[in-house]
Amino acid sequence: AKKAGRNAWRFYNPAMNATASERLELTNGLRCALEQDQLELYYQLQVDLFSGQVIGAEALLRWHHPQWGLVSPARFIPIAEESGLIVPIGAWILQQACHQAAQWQAEGLGIPVVAVNISALQLQDSALAKTVRAALDQAGLAPSALELELTESGLIQDSEQVRATVDQLKGLGVGLAIDDFGTGYSCLAYLRRLAVDVVKIDQSFVRDLNSSADGSAIVTAIIQMARSLGLEVLAEGVEDEETAEALRQLGCCQAQGYLYARPMPASALPARLAERRAA
Ligand code: C2E
Ligand code: CA
Ligand code: CA
Ligand code: CA
Repeated sequence: AKKAGRNAWRFYNPAMNATASERLELTNGLRCALEQDQLELYYQLQVDLFSGQVIGAEALLRWHHPQWGLVSPARFIPIAEESGLIVPIGAWILQQACHQAAQWQAEGLGIPVVAVNISALQLQDSALAKTVRAALDQAGLAPSALELELTESGLIQDSEQVRATVDQLKGLGVGLAIDDFGTGYSCLAYLRRLAVDVVKIDQSFVRDLNSSADGSAIVTAIIQMARSLGLEVLAEGVEDEETAEALRQLGCCQAQGYLYARPMPASALPARLAERRAA
């Protein structure tokens, strides 16, 4: 119990960098996580800032470790990438999320799109488009109901492989979003060639929107750029009405954040949606 306690402290402290032995422990744990059913997708609603309508839900991975408790994705996704485990785990995430979205549609829940995070490493996998296709087919889900969130850092790996994969994904008819936009200082002309649909403004900028002139200048610039390229813009990390209002004023139409809903298990969604409709 003492050891578990110490581990719990170690794994809950996000500021601490993993040592080599912790990494090994995490990697080994993660290897079993899929088989042992320790992974779960939570979902966070995405809303239209003007109508208040739900436009989608982002799938966010959770790891319930039997000793360590809930391990944060910020902590284990990098380990999953380093070890290559993100490829089989990523395939599982796609299958789960597509099944969930098909179920929402069958139930008429009113969540039209599921957004799935794709790591930089998955983008380097030449089989990614096939994996996505298989997940859609298995679930019987229309490609338009799936949006893939590609991080800016993943996209700026300027390789033929990444370009080819993004083209294949686009060809499937799924939506593409650039995640964490603004953090990679990428050249927008380059991103434009990649034919994405949505730009997700990183929450670090959204947080500064009302508190600093710089923050507001960056968000304003991103929204203007994106709109002039005909892209949708979604602001991440919206926590208060003041920020939502500022975003509306700037012409940002979509948002996600604690103001609307925290990430939650799929089983909690129906009640949350009913609550929203009643409000
Ligand atoms: P992300 O894709 O940028 O996801 C948004 C993160 O912000 C989530 O953290 C979410 O819970 C959190 N968040 C949402 N609204 C708010 C808010 O209003 N305020 C604040 N402070 N935070 C908010 P989470 O779930 O811990 O995920 C962290 C990161 O881990 C994700 O960042 C993503 O990069 C990665 N990740 C999570 N799930 C997956 C996955 O299934 N696959 C991959 N490849 N990466 C994932
Ligand atoms: Ca994301
Ligand atoms: Ca993000
Ligand atoms: Ca959309």
